[in-house]
Amino acid sequence: MKHPATRSPGQEPSDKAKSKPPFLIFTDLDGTLLNHDSYSWTEAQPALDLCRGRSVPVILVSSKTRAEMNPLRLKLGLVYPFVAENGGGIFFPAEETHAPPLGATRSEGLWKLSLGAPYDLVVKALTEIGKELDLPIRSFSQMRLEEISSLTALDLDAAHLAAMREYDEPFIIQREDRLDLGLLQDAAKRRGLRITAGGRFYHLHGNTDKGMAIEIIVSWYKASHAHVVTIGLGDSPNDFDMLRKVDYPFFVQSLRSFPGIEDEIPGLNVTKAKGPAGWNEAVLDMLRRKSMGGFLRYV
Ligand SMILES: [Mg+2]
Repeated sequence: MKHPATRSPGQEPSDKAKSKPPFLIFTDLDGTLLNHDSYSWTEAQPALDLCRGRSVPVILVSSKTRAEMNPLRLKLGLVYPFVAENGGGIFFPAEETHAPPLGATRSEGLWKLSLGAPYDLVVKALTEIGKELDLPIRSFSQMRLEEISSLTALDLDAAHLAAMREYDEPFIIQREDRLDLGLLQDAAKRRGLRITAGGRFYHLHGNTDKGMAIEIIVSWYKASHAHVVTIGLGDSPNDFDMLRKVDYPFFVQSLRSFPGIEDEIPGLNVTKAKGPAGWNEAVLDMLRRKSMGGFLRYV
């Protein structure tokens, strides 16, 4: 499944490919492409079908693990890179990638580019931070699969995949009233790490974010295309770095609201519908505009 506009770098693009800017769609999963509760993407299927028909890369960018995301991208029929664990690692399907980025290593049918800190160091640092701030932290590495399952509504097999972490440790704080987020962030920063808030968990991870990861992917595509037009979709604070780095950012409505977000992210569009229905609305609207070339004047 190949299209000139989505050719991997390393192949010589035709003049036609050079003249048409491909869209790159960067998307969060939970609460964005996937329903927050059921993890279904049914409502986004019309837009996904249109992307497939036009060979528009849909690039998954999530706090989920590689072990969760690779089977999911195969079910979605996606042959493009994906970003796991909040930007900790970028994975490129080996069979579709003729020129992996410098530093990528082969790993189970994928090229793996690690940006984040190793998981065992992150877990150790989180234990230290909990003691230092006297915070009752409970993290994935302390939980049995049943507990992860009940917190995430994933079945046990899916919870097992969620626990196969490489860069990022999700956690909850059992007494939120004792949380001073500023102190928590400072404690992480002193260790060269970072805290982000996802839809269900806080996360401790290396000094990476979704925005840094997508910049690498955009550069990779630009090796074979003079212009790319980027669209980003997300629903949580851990998506905001990504939304700031794309040409067309979309905040997909969720159960939570973020007052002032439109001032924080210039050019932000907000979908009317929630979750995958909002995703469908945004992507169909972008792809149905008459001429992709018309977008060039905005970027
Ligand atoms: Mg989300």
